[in-house]
Amino acid sequence: MEPVLVLNANFEPLNVCDIRRAIGLMILDKASLVENGRGEIHTISQSFPRPSIIRLQRMIHRPRPQVKLTRKEVFRRDQFTCQYCGKQYKNLTIDHVTPRHQGGAQTWENVVTACSACNHKKGGRSLKETGMRLRRIPKAPSNSALYLYNHFLFQNQDWEPYLKGW
Ligand SMILES: [Zn+2]
Repeated sequence: MEPVLVLNANFEPLNVCDIRRAIGLMILDKASLVENGRGEIHTISQSFPRPSIIRLQRMIHRPRPQVKLTRKEVFRRDQFTCQYCGKQYKNLTIDHVTPRHQGGAQTWENVVTACSACNHKKGGRSLKETGMRLRRIPKAPSNSALYLYNHFLFQNQDWEPYLKGW
């Protein structure tokens, strides 16, 4: 899988597609090459640059994606750290700050990463009932381009300058 960063006409990061789709967009003249860096793809009669970043020729108006509330994303927001004791554990769990049976919602503000020991200690009670404290007030993570596409940077360092500031 070679992900390609798709920029809007104004250079705002829009999404990520695969290389096949990126080349398709360039052949149709709907996008142009911004960063190559991966050599070329050869067919029998032609060769194409292997894009790492492309840019759409025409501006697309679309709301910025939000980070989806999933287990993995809660751990990522909390930097894989228990929000009660502050330790990094392998066996992390999700804790509802206000327990669901007390009306606690499934929202960014009410879910945190907890180690199994802290989660067990809290035992489906509220903070008030346990006297436990959160290290940070939970909130929705940033939907900056850098946060949204952070996990691609490890293998696509050339993306970084294009993600910054959006
Ligand atoms: Zn803990």
